[in-house]
Amino acid sequence: MGRGILLVLSGPSGVGKSSILKRLLPQDGLVMSISCTTRPPRPGEKDGGEYFFLSTQEFMRRVAAGEMAEYAEVFGNLYGTPKDFLERNLAAGRDVITDIDVQGAEKIKQAFPQAVMLFVAPPGRAELEKRLRTRSTENEPDLLRRLKTADEEMSRLHMYDYIVVNDDLDRAAAVVSAVRTAERAKREKMMEELSW
Ligand code: ADP
Ligand code: 5GP
Repeated sequence: MGRGILLVLSGPSGVGKSSILKRLLPQDGLVMSISCTTRPPRPGEKDGGEYFFLSTQEFMRRVAAGEMAEYAEVFGNLYGTPKDFLERNLAAGRDVITDIDVQGAEKIKQAFPQAVMLFVAPPGRAELEKRLRTRSTENEPDLLRRLKTADEEMSRLHMYDYIVVNDDLDRAAAVVSAVRTAERAKREKMMEELSW
């Protein structure tokens, strides 16, 4: 069995990345990477569920120990991808999907050049604002900061292998799933052509 495929799901805050992930799983041979963060949990979020919630000191200890595949400061908090989980699962032939911000996605592509990069785009700026407001997890200044950052993030679209417009959640999840299938088929065909 070959190595698994690393699928990186990125895009503006509030576009629906975590909703797509929830819709996608469980799926055979696909695991989700759980990030570490110094952001406080939102109501209903559990340690080891949405994130591993860490103190800044513990987060930076793990960075110094080389335990993060990438990390970035996003909206004033630190977020990072545990390296060991990625490597263990990819080596075992399982595909791994991660939800990370645009700066982190570019860093992970450097560390894992075979990563498949997907950008989740909203069907419009007004719709993104509506989703952030409906989610009501941020105060007004934080919400405006996320929208302003979205403007910069949208200008990084060209860095990605695939752009998934999250208009309808089921459709967007089906597109991500189809990308996974296509990437696996592409790899199998390549190995076959190489008689490997
Ligand atoms: P992200 O993980 O990208 O920050 P979320 O998954 O938290 O975004 O989604 C932000 C909000 O938008 C949530 O309230 C979610 O229910 C809603 N949402 C997600 N996808 C859609 C969609 N296709 N249509 C309408 N609302 C959506
Ligand atoms: P939230 O606080 O809304 O859960 O996430 C804020 C942002 O952090 C989102 O854009 C999300 O994609 C990003 N994020 C989540 N986990 C990671 C990670 O491990 N690394 C990086 N760089 N960004 C992350």
